[in-house]
Amino acid sequence: MNKTRIVQILRHGQPDEAVLIQGWVRTTRALKGFAFVELNDGSALANLQVVINEDFPDYEALVKRLTIGSSVAVEGVLVASQGKGQRIEVNPSKIQVFGESDPETYPLQKKRHSFEFLRGLGHLRSRTNTLGAVFRVRNACSSAIHQFFQERGFLWVHTPLITASDCEGAGELFSVTTLDPKNPPKTPQGEIDYSQDFFGKPAYLTVSGQLEAEIMAMAFSDVYTFGPTFRAENSNTSRHLAEFWMVEPEMAFCDLQGNMDLAEAFLKHIFKTVLEQCPEDMEFFNQRIDQTVLATADNIINNQFERISYTEAIAFLEKADRKFEYPVEWGLDLQSEHERYLAEELFKKPVIVRDYPKGIKAFYMRLNDDNQTVAAMDVLAPKIGEIIGGSQREERLDILEQRIQDNQMPLEELWWYRDLRRYGTVPHAGFGLGFERVVQFMTGMGNIRDVIPFPRTPMNAEF
Ligand code: ATP
Ligand code: MG
Ligand code: MG
Ligand code: MG
Repeated sequence: MNKTRIVQILRHGQPDEAVLIQGWVRTTRALKGFAFVELNDGSALANLQVVINEDFPDYEALVKRLTIGSSVAVEGVLVASQGKGQRIEVNPSKIQVFGESDPETYPLQKKRHSFEFLRGLGHLRSRTNTLGAVFRVRNACSSAIHQFFQERGFLWVHTPLITASDCEGAGELFSVTTLDPKNPPKTPQGEIDYSQDFFGKPAYLTVSGQLEAEIMAMAFSDVYTFGPTFRAENSNTSRHLAEFWMVEPEMAFCDLQGNMDLAEAFLKHIFKTVLEQCPEDMEFFNQRIDQTVLATADNIINNQFERISYTEAIAFLEKADRKFEYPVEWGLDLQSEHERYLAEELFKKPVIVRDYPKGIKAFYMRLNDDNQTVAAMDVLAPKIGEIIGGSQREERLDILEQRIQDNQMPLEELWWYRDLRRYGTVPHAGFGLGFERVVQFMTGMGNIRDVIPFPRTPMNAEF
């Protein structure tokens, strides 16, 4: 007999249907004449109730083994539930306990644990209601991303994880090494020679697949990457990980306007799809984590995002009726407190800020006619701040080369990037969306470590 997932039974199961379910016990309550067992298999937030009658073979011994955390398979038929709280339940004919679980030492007790406590239980925390809901939403979000781009004819390209360049120029690189740690080559000064790292050349874990995505866009027009990205962020914020997932579309024959339109349509699509696919989980977040989750989703789907220039953003921040920790000044980058003020307090919806000063943005962004700003755009979300960073790319060879030099970057090493401007160059644009930040935004989860199964931060890389 094939197993049925609990989510299917809860949504569509009908009385008299024969089922096999496999999962883990959440609770067992023995009353007079019956025992109620709540089973969860990860497919749904709610548990499926199995009601064991006391005339079931070996009733007492069996019920004793059905402790919290134990793994079981149950065959039986569905019956309409008499009790409150569920529509349907299982009348079992066969119950098999696979692995028992000692209720005295099982770390997940039937109470609410703090997220910090659960982070120390990375191997078990996915069995809790909240983390279960997070990872289902995360899954729905990834399939919505692929669906969005596939429906629009974008090609999913796989860009390398080991690269030679620091695309963002932010110096947050992890070196990849083939050096013998016991006997590394030394510089004449006696220090370890890291320039010899990767079979004699320097190499790093990628901070962004953008430059390679640009290569692919120059052949396929519309492409996207969706994969892991690494940044040596030596800080402990609730929005930065050392390993995170990024979605990066890149479009040829596209300008900043088209880029902003795509980013907005994209976020709307993700929210809409997740609400449709995970209504119970989203309801749960709204009840238990952040009471603005559903209103926020509604706001995203139904309202246009605000669009302002960086210069206007600075003017709004200067007029703000509150003090900021970091200075507000034309030419300085926006800090998360500024970004949150704009999205959360001032406009109360996502804000797209465009045309940032060239001095605070990467070399590849297209220089505007004012010679001071570049065609960049960041999407700022309430509670989170920046969730998307994007731009129109510099497609003019002479200006690009000047910008590379102004940024003290090696012109020769970027020969292939310059070639793309030499042979069939075209206006093109794209953006990077931090996948975990979107999941955070959508679920209302306060800390980015709780929306990825295995967070990598300076403090945590256990598994
Ligand atoms: P921030 O200003 O928050 O550090 P950034 O400007 O350095 O972000 P970008 O280089 O623009 O980031 O990367 C694109 C997107 O990737 C960001 O908008 C953000 O959503 C996400 N992102 C960047 N760094 C991290 C990180 N360390 N952990 C998780 N997501 C990140
Ligand atoms: Mg950063
Ligand atoms: Mg930023
Ligand atoms: Mg950015």
